[in-house]
Amino acid sequence: MDEKDFALYPYISGAGVHVKSLGMSLDRLVKSRAMESARIRGKERVLQAISGEIIKPNFSGSDEQKILLELLSYPFSRILVSCIDDSFLVRRYSLAEAVASYKLLKTRDPDFLMEIASDFDVYPDKNETGFKLHFSSYIRMASTLKAIEWKLVNRKMKHGNVTVSKEEFARLLQELIRTRVENNLPMNVPDEFVHLCEPYLTDIRSSLEERKNKFGDSEFESVETDLFPPCITHAISNTQAGVNLAHSMRFAMTAFLLTIGMSVDDILNLFAASPDFDIEKARYQVEHIAGSSGTHYTPPSCSTMQTYGNCYAPDAVCKKISHPLNYYRRKLWFRKKDSQKSADNTMTKMPEKTKDK
Ligand code: SF4
Repeated sequence: MDEKDFALYPYISGAGVHVKSLGMSLDRLVKSRAMESARIRGKERVLQAISGEIIKPNFSGSDEQKILLELLSYPFSRILVSCIDDSFLVRRYSLAEAVASYKLLKTRDPDFLMEIASDFDVYPDKNETGFKLHFSSYIRMASTLKAIEWKLVNRKMKHGNVTVSKEEFARLLQELIRTRVENNLPMNVPDEFVHLCEPYLTDIRSSLEERKNKFGDSEFESVETDLFPPCITHAISNTQAGVNLAHSMRFAMTAFLLTIGMSVDDILNLFAASPDFDIEKARYQVEHIAGSSGTHYTPPSCSTMQTYGNCYAPDAVCKKISHPLNYYRRKLWFRKKDSQKSADNTMTKMPEKTKDK
């Protein structure tokens, strides 16, 4: 692997060693004026991750300066993500780095994919159709992929080995990369660095806020997202961060959102960040739950949610209900009562105001 590869796959162990061999320290990266271009690219990297895709540069010939800048922008982008210290950003950033690598890996030759895999202690064999890897490695790589086709029972296994195509292997590597990038984030950043990074953080904070609020925009006016039960809020936040949901949670979240009045298209927009998003398949599934086949499905009860491990961080309201929809109804009822109360208070005060006149 050369410096160009380190710049494009900067989480590889050799890349860190190479940066150290250049005499580069975090202190220099954050403080030196000569590092400004790398810092700007680091910020751009995080902003691109928030909006959905990190664009990797095309290196022509031996563009040494550009290659070095790209390589050093990675540790700086990690510093910025750590300064913000937001779990949504950590997940989104890690996913974007991994997806950008996946897109490049698909285009590389099998030997290069094997070299990258060895950095993760995965040692497949090449065959005519792609790669053959031990089922234990396959399980480690595919454990976070929820789509049915990744389940081990749905793969052909021979003598303990699973065969995958080159593209599938690149997709599996994406999962290992995402986990590695996410590890140790957020890092402990000294206060001095946080202060020095402040000029790069403002745009990131507002872009992040905008991205998080997108779901609560006026198009969902009638849907009060802040009243959702913890299980649904958690599932939505994971979906927006591009984390694949278990099939049962995907069903529960979709049925919940449809029942409270969200449209099929709005729900599809929500799923669009999922790594395995397939618009046609997703539309079919959401429309099916919405009742296209004649049955309108409702979300499962809390006890079913618990059985499938989908009940997440139940709060005080959860103790009083047995169904996620009742959680929402109860909170809506209290909100209406509160606004009624404040309207009544205003009414009783009004005559006095009139008297004052
Ligand atoms: S108790 Fe019910 S509503 Fe509350 S988090 Fe669990 S499944 Fe969701």
